Amino acid sequence: MNARLRIRDVTAECGERAQGFVTIGEAASGPLQLPVVIINGRDDGPILCLTAGVHATEYAPIDAVMRIVQELRPDGLRGAVIAVPVANMCMFEGRTGFVSPLDGLNLNKIGGGRRDGSLSEILAHVLLEEIIGVAQYHIDLHAGDLGEMLMPFAGFALTGQRELDEPGEELARVYTPRLISLSRPGSAIPPFADGIVYAATRKGVVSILAESGGNGTLEEADVRIHLDGVRNVMRHLRMIGGGPPVLGPRIAASDRIVVRAVRAGLLRLKVQIGDLIETGQEVAEICNVFGEVVEGVRAPGTGIAGLVWARKVVNTGDPIVKCWRAERAKSFPRT
Ligand SMILES: [Zn+2]
Repeated sequence: MNARLRIRDVTAECGERAQGFVTIGEAASGPLQLPVVIINGRDDGPILCLTAGVHATEYAPIDAVMRIVQELRPDGLRGAVIAVPVANMCMFEGRTGFVSPLDGLNLNKIGGGRRDGSLSEILAHVLLEEIIGVAQYHIDLHAGDLGEMLMPFAGFALTGQRELDEPGEELARVYTPRLISLSRPGSAIPPFADGIVYAATRKGVVSILAESGGNGTLEEADVRIHLDGVRNVMRHLRMIGGGPPVLGPRIAASDRIVVRAVRAGLLRLKVQIGDLIETGQEVAEICNVFGEVVEGVRAPGTGIAGLVWARKVVNTGDPIVKCWRAERAKSFPRT
């Protein structure tokens, strides 16, 4: 039987479901709060934490967590799920991308935050210490932010400790339909060292980053990838029935290259998400305000187009496409 789970005023006994708000601090208009749902299963098992809306214009992951907390029941659930459908409510209501209007900070670039910091830093601190840190497993659900379109992937920040790295890789594998990104400190692939997932792994939580969707959209296919990913993880952890997930072929990232503009102007993109790009291939052309083509942008290496932007104007140095270098993932004992 599971113990009682309590996060501030939200308490769920064994076999109960509870929801409510946790207060982080105050903005001038009133309290800054964060919604929490606890589904405490009748039977013993692990605690899984789900967070979405760290970037609160990433709607596919937010919708997926909302649907998961509506469909899960304490009966038939082994262990417990603690979910935060929208971590950054200020950015959710304001439809603001990337950084909080309260303090200009990106909630996924301040690690575990600080107890004595600004509101975003306190929010990160509460998330990590009082919510994610209660769990053994954590999934931080993301998409491309406003203007970003990406290839779905799941990633884990390797720690060098086998007892974390093996289950971390397993969770990333069962979540993603295709691409796994296992990063090391300082590597060019996510999860990066300033993010919440990285901070969680350093607290001993097996924490993965999961990305699907983007550009302020809410598309069923993108939500479905998150729903399948969360359910696969829960089946893998034996929290719900249905047997182990059936996996297709996976690829594993080793590096990521960024193709940037040298000249400025209107961008005519010639590749799409998921395209295999060869060294020297023209990925875009840039024309000046008179319509003259001033640059044919060529890929410096081979890779799969993993992230492009919806904006159609670039300045010198702006990224045009991020490409994954990846190879077929080796077989893994338990997935
Ligand atoms: Zn994000």
